[in-house]
Amino acid sequence: FDKFDGVIWYDGKLVPWTEATLHVLSHGLHYASAVFEGERCYGGEIFKCTPHSERLRRSAGILDFEIPWSVAEIDAAKRLVIEKNGFRDAYVRPIAWRGSEMMGVSAQTNTIHLAIAAWQWPSYFNPEERLKGIRLDLAEYRRPDPKTAPSTAKAAGLYMICTISKHRAERRGYADAMMLDWQGRVAECTGANIFFIKDGVIHTPTADCFLDGLTRQTVIELAKRRGIEVVERRIMPEELTGFTECFITGSAAEVTAVAEIADWKFTPSQITKQLMDDYTAETQPKGAAAAA
Ligand code: PMP
Repeated sequence: FDKFDGVIWYDGKLVPWTEATLHVLSHGLHYASAVFEGERCYGGEIFKCTPHSERLRRSAGILDFEIPWSVAEIDAAKRLVIEKNGFRDAYVRPIAWRGSEMMGVSAQTNTIHLAIAAWQWPSYFNPEERLKGIRLDLAEYRRPDPKTAPSTAKAAGLYMICTISKHRAERRGYADAMMLDWQGRVAECTGANIFFIKDGVIHTPTADCFLDGLTRQTVIELAKRRGIEVVERRIMPEELTGFTECFITGSAAEVTAVAEIADWKFTPSQITKQLMDDYTAETQPKGAAAAA
C-alpha cells in the first residue's frame, strides 16, 4: 500500500493524501501551537481510541485552545480514516493546530484545525532488535521542569529536543536516546516511557515531568495482573548498573526490550518477554471488528 494513495480527514472532510496541506503562515508552524496523538489500530480496532481523543483535547486545553470537535466526533473521524483507507493494522496520527489568520505570538481568535492521518507502520524499531533489545544513547538534552514547559501535554513543541536527541543517537549508531529530567533523574526516551527490572520487581520513573503514556499505564496494569510489583520512584542514572532488564513502552514502540544504554548492559528475559506477549494479547480487537 502506498500511503500517497490514501485519504486524510481534514476539518471534517476526507481529502486525498496529497491535498492535506496548510498555509506557511500557520501559527502552529511558527509557534508550535499544535498538539497530536499517536495510536495504533489492531485488526480494525483502535487501541484506547477514546483515551487518546480525550488526551488530544486535554493537550489542546493546556495550550489554551479548544478543539471544535467532541471526543465522540474525533473517535468517529479516526474510525472513518481507518475504514476509508481499508486498513486493519495501522498507525493513527491526529493533529490539531492554530491556523493562519493572525501572525504573532498572540492568536486568540485563529481557527483551530484538526487533521487525522493513518498509515501502515508495522514496527517503530527494527523487529528483530525488539526482542533482542535495542541500544540507547544518553541524550544531551533533558526533559524540562514542568514550570518551564507544559510537560503533561502531547505538544509538538516538546518534541524539538526529542528530534535533536534521536538524530544524534542515530548518528552515533544507537536506535534512540534515553533522556534525563531537569534534575538529572532518569526520565524517558524521545517517544516512549522506560522501565527497569531487578529481582523480579519493576521500577519506573515517576511521571512528574513527562508524558504518563497510555502504554505505560497499560503495562503497569498488566504487570500487576501477573502479581509483579511495580515501583514508581525517582531513579538516578548511577543506579542503572543494578538493573538486569530494561524495556520501553509507547503506542508506536509498543513494548520494546533494551539491551544497552550507553555503557550499561541488560539482558531481556522472562518478565520483559511476558509483558511483550501480554501487551500483544491486550491490543487484540475485542469488539465488533474482531467478530467481523
Ligand atoms: N513519551 C513520549 C515523549 C512520547 O512521545 C510517547 C508516545 N506518545 C510516550 C512517552 C508514550 O505515550 P503513549 O504510551 O501514550 O503512546
